[in-house]
Amino acid sequence: MVLSFAIVSLPFNPVKLAFLVAWVYLCLYFVQRVQFSPLVPEKYKPTANIVTLFVGPLLLLILLIVDTIKKSAEGKGGFFEIARQQIQKALADRRSAEPVRQADSTISLLNSSGSELKEIYGHGDNKGQARHVLFLTEQIIANALEQRASDILIDPKDDATYTVRLRIDGFLRTVKQLKADTCKAIVNSIKAVSSMDISEKRRPQDGAFMAKRGEETASFRVASAGVLNGEKLSIRVLNKDAGVFALADVGLTKKQCAVVERAIKKPSGMILICGPTGSGKTTTMYAILNQIDRLTRNVITVEDPIEAVLPEASQIEVNPRADITFAKTLRSILRQDPDVICVGEIRDEETAEIALRASQTGHLVLATIHCDSNATALVRLLDLGVSPLLLSSGLSLLVSQRLLRRLCKRCKRRARLTQSLIQELRKKGLGHKHIFDAAGCKYCSKTGYFERTAVCDLLIITDQIKENIANNKALVTELRTQGNKKDRANLRWEGLKKAASGITSLEEIKRVVG
Ligand SMILES: [Zn+2]
Repeated sequence: MVLSFAIVSLPFNPVKLAFLVAWVYLCLYFVQRVQFSPLVPEKYKPTANIVTLFVGPLLLLILLIVDTIKKSAEGKGGFFEIARQQIQKALADRRSAEPVRQADSTISLLNSSGSELKEIYGHGDNKGQARHVLFLTEQIIANALEQRASDILIDPKDDATYTVRLRIDGFLRTVKQLKADTCKAIVNSIKAVSSMDISEKRRPQDGAFMAKRGEETASFRVASAGVLNGEKLSIRVLNKDAGVFALADVGLTKKQCAVVERAIKKPSGMILICGPTGSGKTTTMYAILNQIDRLTRNVITVEDPIEAVLPEASQIEVNPRADITFAKTLRSILRQDPDVICVGEIRDEETAEIALRASQTGHLVLATIHCDSNATALVRLLDLGVSPLLLSSGLSLLVSQRLLRRLCKRCKRRARLTQSLIQELRKKGLGHKHIFDAAGCKYCSKTGYFERTAVCDLLIITDQIKENIANNKALVTELRTQGNKKDRANLRWEGLKKAASGITSLEEIKRVVG
């Protein structure tokens, strides 16, 4: 009341005055905009400036409309089109950032002869229950694929419940808890589609099945075992994408890629990839095979199991039950005139010896071995009984590796580093500006990490090293005592370089390499 009286009693209207001041200010602001606008031809700028001085915001609106009409006629999209596209892009980004919670259930599970799970399972009395079990089984598999799981574990928690866990980026995550009865039926359905004996619940068994969704297929390896309170299933998801990876995708540095490329150009010698279980050896092996021209070189692989299809290569899967072992298969493929031989895994002396002999006699051999480092690989081969002379003359390159989780790009945050750590990094010639920490968002399921990359330590077997392996007992002792420590330091150094470029975190390196 008092305020309105004060306004009325004033010689001018303050609201109108504020509007006038704002209008003048906007006009002046747009004069400056028009002066630098590419939309207004240079010769019309003085006139446009005068007009803008009085009707500023209106003229700018007219200019934007003219621009939109012009650009949409040219098919480029004007101001409004660009704004619309940007809003759409932002929405799409938000959509893709949201993790897929509801897995696509239009997936079909097939056994090795191509029959669907629906046909194999669920012909019992209770059709409704069977349908429910089928739905749950398909949902578990679809969900595992959506979440990039490498393994699915189904096991009894106690006598009333079972848990379903997924291993994602090396970590197990519980995704479901089910009643024992329901889950036992799921276990049976998976065993059925994997061509395993459903009635056998104690003895360990293994099998395989495939999943098909649209054009995509995925293969699974299943192992069962009787445990307390029931039966446990471990399902491995085979990495079918491994067949398309290049060396750089796997995580090798440019320098390391060049070393590997030099080694594969040679007609003979063995490239040995070392690492513990789940360190990505197979993926690296496929990436190396992808570098080889398989049309001009006869490539034969012996694998357990075949993870991905390699066009133009002959792939053989070992099957110890049918007496198809690594050693036997290797012997037979030497008669197939191979240029490149790939041995899935060296587990015994016989395989090691045949592979090394092949690498001496004009074959390029690629193999993996389960051990901690390059040094322990050499020691392990010697311990298996391989002669130092054969080892030294056959080997050409050792690659040991680990998998580091990549920081989630959407939520990584700048790491808070102590002064002493910054100094330490500086001494090593590494910057600290791109060192990040894991945070956690919806996209990475609150872990702060998404996908993994390999960190590798390469050892080129030079003539000097060859001579040392063959003749120098002291070297072998040194390998046994100091070798592993040195190799770990190398891996740590390679990991630090990855952290300094923002790929992974310092904690992750500590966790993986120590
Ligand atoms: Zn995240």
